[in-house]
Amino acid sequence: MRLWILDLDGVVYRGNKLIEGAKEFVEGVRDKGEDLVFLTNNSLFTPEFYSEKLTRLGIPVEACDIYTSAELTGAYLQESGIKKVFAIGEGGLKKALLRRGIKLEESPDVEAVVVGLDRDFHYRKLVIAYKAIEKGAHFLATNTDSTLPCEDGLLPGSGSIVASVEKATGKRPVVIGKPEPVGIQLILQERGEGKEVFIVGDRVDTDVLAGKRAGIKTVLVLTGVTTRAEIDKIPPSHTPDIIVDRLEELLK
Ligand SMILES: [Mg+2]
Repeated sequence: MRLWILDLDGVVYRGNKLIEGAKEFVEGVRDKGEDLVFLTNNSLFTPEFYSEKLTRLGIPVEACDIYTSAELTGAYLQESGIKKVFAIGEGGLKKALLRRGIKLEESPDVEAVVVGLDRDFHYRKLVIAYKAIEKGAHFLATNTDSTLPCEDGLLPGSGSIVASVEKATGKRPVVIGKPEPVGIQLILQERGEGKEVFIVGDRVDTDVLAGKRAGIKTVLVLTGVTTRAEIDKIPPSHTPDIIVDRLEELLK
């Protein structure tokens, strides 16, 4: 039995357009009775949002098969027994924490500070995070992506906000998203037992590296940010097990 962990942007879709071969791949994997989930570093949205988006694009997916860095952060906190948190983030992150019974407080008297992408980030939030961490709160980040792909290019990502908290406190966060293996390890606990697991992504510095660190098979698909011309420059530490031009080649 196999478990496929698929990145979204640059693998399944680009903006609001499905990538050629993605639908065929998902259908082929399902026909074979193999397991398949989706994993994104984006912490802005809920699994329900991605489920609706993928279904609208022609790939019906249940919300329980979508793992966002926000959901995995919620799972990590729950497993650690942390119940009171100051969250810098948006709906995707806050809902992920609330649905696990974690209390959100805008105060330094919390057990953990969780930082994701927050398009309403400001100095007062930085002050609360700083004071909480100075008082001993755990410091977590959904991910440290420097930028976020958008319809018309790139915008600053979670990592740019995490960096400001790091700079103020001098502390490093526990990072849940790719390229760290923490999020994948949580997926493996839930879905991976006895399975041969593959991560499929379009970036070597996040998707492939996270897979290597988690000890699973790695696949680079050339439909996103990495081009064929760049393959020769990939360092050994980031070299994928398999490289394909299109997802459906994996069915062979
Ligand atoms: Mg991607």
